[in-house]
Amino acid sequence: MKYIVVTGGVLSGLGKGVTTASIGRILKDHGYSVIPIKIDGYVNVDPGTMNPYEHGEVFVLDDGSETDLDLGHYERFLNVNLTRESNITTGQIYKAVIEKERRGEYLGKTVQIIPHVTDEIKCRLKVFDGKADVVLIEVGGTIGDMENMIFIEALRQMSREPNNEFMFIHLSYVPTIISGEQKTKPTQHSVRELQSLGIQPDVIIGRCKTKLKKRTREKIALFCGVKPENVLSNPDVDDIYLLPSLFKKQNLANIIIKKLKLRHKMTYSFKWDTLVEKLHTYDKEVIIGIVGKYTGLEDAYISIKEAFKHAGAINSCRVNLKWIEAERIDEMCLGDCHGILVPGGFGPRGAEGKINAIKYARENNIPFLGICFGFQLAVVEFARNVCNLENANSTEVDPDTPHPVIDLIPEQRNISDKGGTMRLGSYPCRLRRDSLAYKLYKKDIIYERHRHRWEVNPKYVRVLEENGLIFSGIYEERNLMEILELPEHPYFIASQFHPEFKSRLESPAPLFVGLVESASRRA
Ligand code: GLN
Repeated sequence: MKYIVVTGGVLSGLGKGVTTASIGRILKDHGYSVIPIKIDGYVNVDPGTMNPYEHGEVFVLDDGSETDLDLGHYERFLNVNLTRESNITTGQIYKAVIEKERRGEYLGKTVQIIPHVTDEIKCRLKVFDGKADVVLIEVGGTIGDMENMIFIEALRQMSREPNNEFMFIHLSYVPTIISGEQKTKPTQHSVRELQSLGIQPDVIIGRCKTKLKKRTREKIALFCGVKPENVLSNPDVDDIYLLPSLFKKQNLANIIIKKLKLRHKMTYSFKWDTLVEKLHTYDKEVIIGIVGKYTGLEDAYISIKEAFKHAGAINSCRVNLKWIEAERIDEMCLGDCHGILVPGGFGPRGAEGKINAIKYARENNIPFLGICFGFQLAVVEFARNVCNLENANSTEVDPDTPHPVIDLIPEQRNISDKGGTMRLGSYPCRLRRDSLAYKLYKKDIIYERHRHRWEVNPKYVRVLEENGLIFSGIYEERNLMEILELPEHPYFIASQFHPEFKSRLESPAPLFVGLVESASRRA
């Protein structure tokens, strides 16, 4: 089996996820099949229980797993649907080992980090053996962190196994000091650290403000024991989608093909370039206001950000996002927006601000898209201000509301564990033929991804519909309301699911495409 391992040096936040995704995309466009795996060193079983400020967005896969946001980059760059096996955490590994120990599977033995924990890791890393040309493994965190040591050790062991072909790519930081000089010392140190763990990188990618100078590359090559042509640049770019072409120009594909002794494929096509070109040619611009509560960290809404790029490209429109903090909202901040999006969220903080934004969009005919919590609050707003149900609310925000228009579904009531227990993953949704939703998707049944506990309370569906709200998408098996719209409004639509998770450059999410289109008409 052939593996590529991507490690990070000096500091985090260098864009290792996008770099890994770009490497995958280059291989894909050369005709190779690639399955990516992200390793996260934390003890949580998954990021589902973390605050977005801790971790950024929680990305949800079809199978309902809650994963690291890098899996979103992989899916978008590679245009594939991944499964839970693609995200490994320390928590999962230890959980598996301890459960095996309790079952007696190590009977008679002292259970140790090496070999038992490392064996468990290797076992997890090998689930895709034979299923792709290359398994692409990204090790989260920075070399030298205690958290990822054990994973590095497992990878080192695997790289010595006779039937495996390994390639190590190290992404490191190259700071530029005031004189303009690019400094290689931090990279030298981090590579030495990697070597002390028994790993010699084959390629070093220098993350730097600008392209690495020839001298810088030669110095890194000399001190770190790699060929000068295997030291690549990863400069600041305006758009992450430019990275695959940048690496391609530096011959990365051939370096990989040679190192891993990959068989040459005939299906070479660099489709990515053409797709990305569309991203940067536009004749219109719009401003979309995003009213959320984690707006201080754009990573918390990264899939939404990307979905707008995709929807912009297909509309030949540049989408400028305006991040609006829900707790500090007034009409002034919404005045220049051609469209408004209220994203997913949890808990009471900021809920009233979001409701006000929805009211403003509804009353002023501003194109609006609500997602998950945004969908639920659109129901609350409509119940209060159109159906005159005073103090209507979601029981998540106000457990004592007289009109619980959004409530827990019965099967959620007795759940006390917080991890992995929401309504998660892909569910079918039937669309009403005469609806805006159908016009956008052009399908009777769609599949979209969910992550929530609360739902529209069935007791209120009638009064909402009698007042003009339409539920145009339904999960038939349980009669759950999944999409709402207002036929009188130029574009007012919201979904209980998260359309952003499946948006790709190749297939933009219809609800975003529609929003950008009506916003650009308004602009
Ligand atoms: N907090 C809401 C729920 O759990 C919405 C969740 C979300 O927006 N992802 O139902």
